[in-house]
Amino acid sequence: MLNALEITTATADHPTTALLLGSGELGKEVAIELMRLGIRVVACDRYPNAPAMQVASAHAVLDMKDRQALSDLIHQVKPDVVIPEIEAIATDVLLELEQKEGLRVVPSAKAASITMNREAIRTLAAQTLNLPTSPYFFASSAEEVHTNIDKVGFPCIMKPVMSSSGKGQSTLHSEADIDAAWAKACSEGRGHESRVIVEGFVKFDREITLLTVQAADGIHFCPPIGHHQVNGDYHESWQPEPLDEETLLECKRIASTVVKALGGYGIFGVELFIAGKSVIFSELSPRPHDTGMVTLISQDLSEFALHVRALLGYPIGNIVFHGPSASAAILAKGSGNKITYRGLQDALAVGPDCALRIFGKPDIDGERRLGVALARADSVENAVAQVKAMRKQVEIVIEREPETQAPA
Ligand code: AMP
Repeated sequence: MLNALEITTATADHPTTALLLGSGELGKEVAIELMRLGIRVVACDRYPNAPAMQVASAHAVLDMKDRQALSDLIHQVKPDVVIPEIEAIATDVLLELEQKEGLRVVPSAKAASITMNREAIRTLAAQTLNLPTSPYFFASSAEEVHTNIDKVGFPCIMKPVMSSSGKGQSTLHSEADIDAAWAKACSEGRGHESRVIVEGFVKFDREITLLTVQAADGIHFCPPIGHHQVNGDYHESWQPEPLDEETLLECKRIASTVVKALGGYGIFGVELFIAGKSVIFSELSPRPHDTGMVTLISQDLSEFALHVRALLGYPIGNIVFHGPSASAAILAKGSGNKITYRGLQDALAVGPDCALRIFGKPDIDGERRLGVALARADSVENAVAQVKAMRKQVEIVIEREPETQAPA
């Protein structure tokens, strides 16, 4: 039985230095919000010039899965607070330093460690907390999948336990799909160990993210966010997704149950499937969620501002919702280190309440999310139509230039 974590009370002093582990587009917005409150941000990622590094006070380039390198960095930076922004982190180092040296990790080292592993979070939700989930089993070999497949039936979904955003994920329609799905999960999973979760396919009508803030002044919810995923990757999100009162209450019950069990202050992106009147827990991020980028235009306090306020131990107060809004991921495919954007003026002219974020990623190799289109309109349908129209206007030119040495 997992014990619920104690919610850590804020230290009396306003932090001076935050160490951001993960410096992508979500981390960049978190860094901006921290800096607005006068906090020095050291942004860390495995490659230089990552989005959050471009706005941070200092940066470090390292593999955050490397235990020694991560521990050395923490001892060198001596942060008042460590903010994990991705899942691929040696969370055992965070757990150890939290316990032995009082390192402050948000929402907590335990939350980061449980949610990076699908086995740990699913076991917590389904078995310890008795929340509704898809039927599932775990397996460590293709043979084990063959033996247990009747527990979930077909179609089903296989995912590496150490993975996120559709990576290494396959939909299986018959026994014949098992071996290829196993091979894919092993080659694309994050960990060293080959282990998968096989989930019964939920024929949901809609999927939502319920942004849930656990803060000094209690638990707050943002209006539900609906989203459209392609191969496990989000393409559009909108807010609010209309839910009847009873369904919304059930979503809030599930979200607050799991968030309280994980403990700690911060925002959590709780992913839920809605099938008729049933609400099914899928997974959650103990940090801002990519589908929640819509809050950059829909709320006075975005999910990033909410995360920072909560993790500092400060009260949230009211979250003001500005009205129906949408976001569309701007994705590009190619290979190069010079990325040029055209057509932004046309994109911003699509409607009177449009905005763009271009993340400033330094290069691309394959498919990558480079920006997001945002719009507010008189209805969710119109907001979604506008962000799709904006995305069409953005032209991305990818070229390769010889690497130049930075001036000494
Ligand atoms: P995940 O990486 O677990 O968030 O999964 C990515 C996406 O795959 C989800 O947002 C769903 O669209 C889809 N998906 C994941 N698990 C299931 C399931 N058990 N049944 C149906 N669709 C799923």
